[in-house]
Amino acid sequence: ETAKAQGHPVLVHEQAADEKSSHKLVLLSDLRRGISRRELVLHYQPKIDIGSGALVGAEALVRWNHPELGFVPPDRFIPIAEQTGLIHPLTHYVLDAALVQARTWQQAGTPVRVAVNLSARNLLNDELPGQIAELLTANGVSAALLELEVTESAIMTDPQRARRVLNELAGMGIGLSIDDFGTGYTSIGQLRHLPVHELKIDRSFVTALATDATDAMIVRSIVELGHNLGLSIVAEGVEDDATRCVLAGVGCDIAQGFGISRPLPAGRFDEWMAAYEARPAVSLSVQ
Ligand code: C2E
Ligand code: MG
Ligand code: MG
Ligand code: MG
Repeated sequence: ETAKAQGHPVLVHEQAADEKSSHKLVLLSDLRRGISRRELVLHYQPKIDIGSGALVGAEALVRWNHPELGFVPPDRFIPIAEQTGLIHPLTHYVLDAALVQARTWQQAGTPVRVAVNLSARNLLNDELPGQIAELLTANGVSAALLELEVTESAIMTDPQRARRVLNELAGMGIGLSIDDFGTGYTSIGQLRHLPVHELKIDRSFVTALATDATDAMIVRSIVELGHNLGLSIVAEGVEDDATRCVLAGVGCDIAQGFGISRPLPAGRFDEWMAAYEARPAVSLSVQ
């Protein structure tokens, strides 16, 4: 009885692990097909200048419109794509879709700079800069309309190789941002040798900013450090006006978050842009 009772949780655990990995296999073959059937769609989330309120760009965030599962969020399939090399065609697809959209906005007379997320394996791919150059040419979009977001941990996978790829991308005139800043282990020494123009403060430091003095201190320090290195600072996860006002108070440059807009499909982003009225932020300080 006792042995059986003790064995039971192990069995359950094994079954759960098994189900999880077979589920992953299903997703993997579905994902390969999903990419070729163009089931992946991009949503766009605005980035605004905190001082003036002006729209300064949009982050492209991929969603998978799965025929049976409905919308699958990126956290569910990007890690699988990264483990299998499928991330390469996926990133190519996302870049192409984002540049098609950038061209559409440019032709409509409302140019929007688009930011695309790269993953760790993309940064180890020597062919990526050449592929992006081809996509820019094919879509007739200037490099100045493209930004790429990379995380600290992605760079740390192989800092020398990553730096080579990043230098080449920066040399093409593409803006580079460090995403989720504050959650990794980039040293200040490394940061100053990377060809980046922007830091995006991870939303874990931002969401409770208006009420948490420690978060406010951390964000203020990152803004000061980043400005001293000549970088523009973005706060992600800005969920309300009070947070935006505190960010204005610490001199943060750009805000992104549900409080400005959720990520939207292109058509709804156009409606948002048409209705949007930029207004300056009021500065607030937190004690
Ligand atoms: P990320 O690049 O840090 O993107 C920001 C995430 O925060 C997005 O989640 C966005 O919807 C969410 N977010 C934005 N504002 C707020 C807010 O005010 N509050 C809260 N709670 N969340 C907010 P999403 O779209 O689920 O994407 C998750 C992650 O998946 C992204 O984090 C990025 O690392 C990855 N990802 C998304 N699209 C791509 C892609 O095309 N390629 C790659 N490699 N990764 C992608
Ligand atoms: Mg990002
Ligand atoms: Mg981020
Ligand atoms: Mg994040």
